Amino acid sequence: CGIFGIFGHPEAANLTYLGLYALQHRGQESCGIVSSDGRSLSAHKSMGLVADVFGNQEIFRSLPGPAAIGHVRYSTTGDSVYKNVQPIMVDYSRGSIAVAHNGNLVNAQIIKDELEAWGSIFQTTMDTEIIIHLLATSKQNSLEDRIVDALSRVKGAYCLLFLTETRMVAARDPHGFRPLCLGKLGDSWVVASESCALDLIEAEFIREIEPGEIVVIDKNGLTSLSPLKKVEPAPCIFEFVYFARPDSYIFGQNVYEVRKEFGRQLAREHHVEADIVIPVPDSGVPAALGYAQEAGLPFELGLIRNHYVGRTFIEPQQSIRHFGVKIKLNPVRDILKDKRVVVIDDSIVRGTTSRKIVKMVRNAGAKEVHVRISSPPTSYPCYYGIDTPTRKELISSSHTIEEIRKYITADSLGYLSEEGLLQSVGTGSTPYCKACFSGSYPIKFPKLAAAPQLD
Ligand code: 5GP
Ligand code: SF4
Ligand code: MG
Repeated sequence: CGIFGIFGHPEAANLTYLGLYALQHRGQESCGIVSSDGRSLSAHKSMGLVADVFGNQEIFRSLPGPAAIGHVRYSTTGDSVYKNVQPIMVDYSRGSIAVAHNGNLVNAQIIKDELEAWGSIFQTTMDTEIIIHLLATSKQNSLEDRIVDALSRVKGAYCLLFLTETRMVAARDPHGFRPLCLGKLGDSWVVASESCALDLIEAEFIREIEPGEIVVIDKNGLTSLSPLKKVEPAPCIFEFVYFARPDSYIFGQNVYEVRKEFGRQLAREHHVEADIVIPVPDSGVPAALGYAQEAGLPFELGLIRNHYVGRTFIEPQQSIRHFGVKIKLNPVRDILKDKRVVVIDDSIVRGTTSRKIVKMVRNAGAKEVHVRISSPPTSYPCYYGIDTPTRKELISSSHTIEEIRKYITADSLGYLSEEGLLQSVGTGSTPYCKACFSGSYPIKFPKLAAAPQLD
């Protein structure tokens, strides 16, 4: 998911719309904006893309006020249905509050069972709603203390934006799984999942919000708190591999540069005699450039992408995904004919995409097709906010690289090594989360919520 918020700007809802537009790649199922005019909150949200949901100028008249938060969603917990569209907005004893969440809580079920035993009634099937209940039932007085109270109970990945009548609060979990940055536009503060959203509205990038940091913004300015127990950070390395936009700056680095380095390292690890290097667009482009440069081979666009199709992976049904590759990509025959082709993609999940692409490239006349993947085999599911499928569906959890090569019908297949991945990210001491590759999870699972997919 992606989140965006702005405080202290007369066009808050409009700018939030633009911010969400820039973050659309982080979620395409649904989106929403909640604004505050200082006295009450207003919301507009729906299933669909940002441009469709907010396609009508009239909508912005119903979102008045100088503060707004917004959300683009793709579901990790909770179904893809209307009641689960964020931000969630509620009225409780202290007024109104809205929340937008990027991440995934691992002890949600335990807390939910507890709260329900005490009489709470949940309106959604999202883990995010738990935070609202904890906050509303907290014995603390101030908003900050209630938020701290709620956050000290939940475990997992979260970047959160809260909006009340008079305040906006941003919070990042102590592991810092997901990115979150702080910017300024004139006198107003901006918070966004990725810096590409700041660029679009011409806000200045100030800094990233730190793991475990809570930032409170109101008419008196910004206050930073770090009340949560410190743990070893675990920013998600997969944000660099696939999820974030290449023009963004996250976890201290530019995503494009890191991706290109993945490609260079991949070329060093898996050399092959070939004529051209082609990316699987868009996710494979920077790595393919890096590979081509390092290998001294021409980089070509051998597959052309239809830009009106979303990320195939995010389509919720296997039948649609099946079609997806063809809807999305078409080969350029003149480029591929009689060539030994290196095809670069960022990851293999189920293997469906690669298999179709290899066929497509071969049918277009390629003599040899060598697949190179700019991350290690994805063998384990993510429980921290990326929607990887269950272990069973992950082809590399049950197949060797040679078996996968056969399945996708490539002449050769090479994955970036775990060491190569870490070396390319190269910030030395930052311990990244790479659980989907290594299986070593930074947050263990509470017994009750024991990850059922793990076997
Ligand atoms: P497959 O067909 O192997 O299941 O999917 C692989 C493709 O899915 C790659 O091209 C990759 O870019 C894309 N992809 C889209 N979303 C995700 C995601 O959330 N996780 C992973 N690992 N790959 C994704
Ligand atoms: Fe990111 Fe993978 Fe860790 Fe999930 S398991 S947070 S996708 S590195
Ligand atoms: Mg892709």
